[in-house]
Amino acid sequence: MKRREMILKGLGAAALAVLSKPLLAADAAIAKLAKSKDQWRKLLTDDQFNILFEEGTEYPNSSPLLHEKRQGKFICAACYLPLFDTSTKYESGTGWPSFFDSLPHSVETKADRSLFMLRTEYHCSRCGGHHGHVFDDGPPPTGKRYCNNGVALLFVPKDQALPALRS
Ligand SMILES: [Zn+2]
Repeated sequence: MKRREMILKGLGAAALAVLSKPLLAADAAIAKLAKSKDQWRKLLTDDQFNILFEEGTEYPNSSPLLHEKRQGKFICAACYLPLFDTSTKYESGTGWPSFFDSLPHSVETKADRSLFMLRTEYHCSRCGGHHGHVFDDGPPPTGKRYCNNGVALLFVPKDQALPALRS
């Protein structure tokens, strides 16, 4: 390939990447589910409500999902949006279910300055329910550690249909 052609091709690919990014993000945006705390309180157990909508934290090593190794999806216990796949789960040794990546567009983050620390909180991008914090000490390929409260998740094995999103 001639040098000029190569440069043009390179530019074309770069321009396409820039152009297609916002389009993809808009296409994949998750429609929000707005419910009041009182509505959620009626639908969830006390533990689920405390963690998801009062930003609580479960005791380490308390979740049966810590040892869940079957293939499948981990979905938001409030609105049922799938957040994680077993293929990204790993044993972090922290006592909380840990993942090195979330499913695309499934979670959003915000700065959390509580407990005299600056941490990055993440929540379900559909219902806003709090799930945990994300840290930069995870394994490759992302280097991320999504440290999730097990109570805030439900596990759906691969051979079972995912439940319809809660409305
Ligand atoms: Zn949710």
